[in-house]
Amino acid sequence: HQQTNQPPLALLSAPQLAPARQHACHKGVFGDVAILGGEGLAERGLSMVGAAWLAALAAMHGGAGRVMLALLDAEQHANQAGSAWPEIMLRKPNAQDWSSATVVCGCGGGLAVAPWLPTLLAQAPRLVLDADALNTVAASTDLMQQLAARAARGQATVLTPHPLEAARLLQTDTARIQADRLQAASELAQKFACTVVLKGSGSVIACNALDSKQRTSSLWINPTGNALLATGGTGDVLAGLIASLWAQGLSAQQAAIQGAYRHGQVADQWPAERPFSASALAQHLRTR
Ligand code: AMP
Ligand code: MG
Repeated sequence: HQQTNQPPLALLSAPQLAPARQHACHKGVFGDVAILGGEGLAERGLSMVGAAWLAALAAMHGGAGRVMLALLDAEQHANQAGSAWPEIMLRKPNAQDWSSATVVCGCGGGLAVAPWLPTLLAQAPRLVLDADALNTVAASTDLMQQLAARAARGQATVLTPHPLEAARLLQTDTARIQADRLQAASELAQKFACTVVLKGSGSVIACNALDSKQRTSSLWINPTGNALLATGGTGDVLAGLIASLWAQGLSAQQAAIQGAYRHGQVADQWPAERPFSASALAQHLRTR
């Protein structure tokens, strides 16, 4: 953990995951996570409903007290009510859920996230933006300004771009992002005054925060993870896990660092005989 202008340190161990659980506790103590996503590209017949489910599953197994899932695809919403994971509360998108929950937006979001983003950016106190939420913000100067304005209001944001999503946000190309990943992550964190997880082999976590009117920045390299993770849906699992740790009381920065660490660690410890998939990963995240 280093201040600006000093070389970054690799994170060699995860000092803490989710806080210890007192015996006398209840689900309200561990926070709410609300997921908004699940729309595909309807015009191409693509459903991405699984992405939102994966984020929800990861949030649940990561230890959040309650997980709400708002699917943007109304038909999927109707079809899936009560199925798959009964612990997850299916909701219609509802801004009221966002005032106290940690919100994840964009996993399988398609174009349908766009109408919700202004409200989310204005209201959500803790917001994780992934995938199509990032792409939608990147395509709009207005939304980029709204994202950058959150920090001054005390609203924290975690962005979880892969290199292409990062390139869109910085209006450049993936080659430039990959040529200096530390610089790219720092630039993004500074541009939006937030926490950024630039994903890939050796995810970089850059944090830019306003602490007692002082701007601080830090840079980390996550040492865990391997090529098992190079499969569809693992990014959605990461977004859900970060939100889960954040909802349980970690800071945005710690949730991003610990979430990336745990996500990779589970893949590193994966038994050779166990089939790997993003949903299997989500079910083995257990943080306590
Ligand atoms: P996404 O690109 O959104 O599907 O997210 C993929 C997730 O898997 C991110 O958390 C990446 O950091 C991780 N990942 C993918 N490939 C690798 C790799 N070769 N080594 C380590 N982590 C990886
Ligand atoms: Mg992704």
